[in-house]
Amino acid sequence: MSKKNTLPTSENEILRLLQDRSPDKSKFLKKGIGDDAAVFCPRNAAEYWLVTTDMLAENIDFRCEWTIPRQLGRKSISVNLSDLAAMGGRPRFFTVSLGLPSVISRRWIMEFYRGLIERGDMHGALLIGGDLSCSESGIIISITAIGESVGRKVLYRSGGRDGDALYVTGILGRSAAGLRLLYRGCLQPRTRSQREALRSHRQPDPRCAVGMWLAQSGMVRCMMDLSDGLSVDLPRMCAASGVGAEIDTARLPLFTDATAWDLDPVALALHGGEDFELLFAVPESKTALLEKTYPHDLPKITRIGKMIRGRRNLWVHHDGKNRRRLKEGGYDHFRRHCVENEGAIVREGYGKNDQ
Ligand SMILES: [Mg+2]
Repeated sequence: MSKKNTLPTSENEILRLLQDRSPDKSKFLKKGIGDDAAVFCPRNAAEYWLVTTDMLAENIDFRCEWTIPRQLGRKSISVNLSDLAAMGGRPRFFTVSLGLPSVISRRWIMEFYRGLIERGDMHGALLIGGDLSCSESGIIISITAIGESVGRKVLYRSGGRDGDALYVTGILGRSAAGLRLLYRGCLQPRTRSQREALRSHRQPDPRCAVGMWLAQSGMVRCMMDLSDGLSVDLPRMCAASGVGAEIDTARLPLFTDATAWDLDPVALALHGGEDFELLFAVPESKTALLEKTYPHDLPKITRIGKMIRGRRNLWVHHDGKNRRRLKEGGYDHFRRHCVENEGAIVREGYGKNDQ
């Protein structure tokens, strides 16, 4: 069978198919398919508008046994707001469409919306509509978030150059550690580390304030959010920028507490996914100023490597030693693979047969 007729096997492949068939034709469109959000400029508008959508399906993206509806509401809006944060956008509005099984309780629905609305409020996003339908295969949640630029300053995945320093916000791998705890039946935290890991996984907080600050700073060349894992998302930003990258694992902001649970913090950070932190590139000449002026009250930023020449050049090393290729190991809905990397399975789907 020719490759043309075979089914796409990965999210990246499907995205490429859509991009090929959807040329950016409208003069109002600044960015179409392939970035964290679409960007357009309405006629006579002072600012750009950003639109992003995400779908969460029960037993694929979440399990009801592992989360309460209020947390699920918070997470559902957060993953969308994270895509606005990734471009430096200010959240404004969102819509919610739900497919619900007929057995769902009124209380579940009210608590879910409570979580959605309170997390939207925190970041300035107002619920303005949606749709409801019945589902015979679990809960389906689809959210569309709308944001606006500030001073038309929007950051894309493209724009990074050879030599740029790579940074991330927050801690990587904590959410994946939380997912491992859930797989092991730890639903209620007994220690501070467990509470942090479960919280990161169940109700991540989007980095909207950081994203806006970075876009306004004028020091960042490109940015995206980390939803599928550094080893999957970094190659996406590199491909959009036409460069490669090398990551120093000695510099990664790790969730080291996971070692006590027989998990490898480096593997979690590289391949874990669902961190919803930001990844961005800064010209070497601006790194000192960035680190000096970055506000102390925002989540910390960490320099983890640099962009290099050659889009296929993706490497990891440990403080200059043990240099090896960065293997893609994050989560892909259409492969739904268990990731075995560096000796630890770190990221699975939520399907009941995945374990
Ligand atoms: Mg994203």
